[in-house]
Amino acid sequence: MSPRRTALREAHGCVLAANVRATVAVPGFDNSAMDGYAARAAEVAAASEANPVTLPVSGEIMAGPVRPEPLVAGTVARIMTGAPLPVGADTIVQLEWTDGGTETVRINRAPRRGLHIRRAGEDIAPGNLVLAAGTVLGAAQIGLLAAVNVARPAVHPRPRVAVLSTGNELVEAGTPLGPGQIVDSNSHAIAAAAHEAGAVVRRVAGVSDDPEAFAEVFEELLKNTDVIVTTGGISVGDRDVVKQVLSKSSDVRFERIAMQPGKPQGFGVVDGVPVFTLPGNPVSALVSFELFVRPALRRMRGLPPRVTPLATQVPWQDGSAGLDPSSGAVTVVVGETLLSQSGKRTFPRVRLERDAAGELVATSAGG
Ligand code: AMP
Ligand code: MG
Repeated sequence: MSPRRTALREAHGCVLAANVRATVAVPGFDNSAMDGYAARAAEVAAASEANPVTLPVSGEIMAGPVRPEPLVAGTVARIMTGAPLPVGADTIVQLEWTDGGTETVRINRAPRRGLHIRRAGEDIAPGNLVLAAGTVLGAAQIGLLAAVNVARPAVHPRPRVAVLSTGNELVEAGTPLGPGQIVDSNSHAIAAAAHEAGAVVRRVAGVSDDPEAFAEVFEELLKNTDVIVTTGGISVGDRDVVKQVLSKSSDVRFERIAMQPGKPQGFGVVDGVPVFTLPGNPVSALVSFELFVRPALRRMRGLPPRVTPLATQVPWQDGSAGLDPSSGAVTVVVGETLLSQSGKRTFPRVRLERDAAGELVATSAGG
């Protein structure tokens, strides 16, 4: 997706499109890291429990939009955490090292020069690289952008994904089922998967198998969507509405893929919108999402491709020790014979359990 400047709130979870360099210093001014007294180190250097130093308190400096008076020689100023340091002060005597006095203060310990002073720019100096392009903006990154006074970072916007389920048999979850009806689980599962993949999701549930009804909904979605994902209606049945409508009116291609589950698939770009037509079987639909839709959404979000098991050489072919866990893939021990149909890449659903040695062992979870 082409970069766009957005408010921080919308930028959360997006990928930064350009390096952000600081134009300001953080902190922006010298300030106190403690509640206490701004002082000159030389004037309190002799202070100890046995021989405290007592000095007049010449003022009070709060955190806030003020420029404090310079510190009068021979005095200290009460100062709060985050308040600007007065000119002349070069140390902070923390409250706990004093009697807390307001007219005069007795100081029991000598702070070294610079103690508890946060210097302007000590965290970030103007010109520093704050965040690199390609960074996913989590809570800490959003805070950092705000801290360097960037209110509208350039990010790859989240793709808007419409999830459309088809089938006359479908009813919305929570509805009592009549004869021949099933709950529409696909639209929820695929919408959730797209949400997890960083999309802004619109769920359009249970569109009927009537070609005109489907075409109308589909046309409408094309206008304000970046990706359309449909489920169902793409096999060889008479009433396979998605295939029937889109194979006539668009460049969506319907193919059989040598994989299991998820043999029937369709894909094409219609009016600039990528359209994925996933099978209706819920397991097929979700596996297909992982293999085809999620990588596309990563790309649209400005993320590099993730090495999926599909794209990776199997370890015994390329000699590598195994798959990289940071890629989302893990290496497991196969705990029982898992067969694939000849000529098909099989994606078996498995249970993972740790054995006594701590190794992950996969056993079939069935269909
Ligand atoms: P289809 O490809 O439309 O013939 O659907 C294949 C199988 O998946 C049928 O058993 C459907 O009832 C089932 N199915 C289709 N769509 C959904 C859905 N949205 N939720 C749950 N099951 C579905
Ligand atoms: Mg159907």
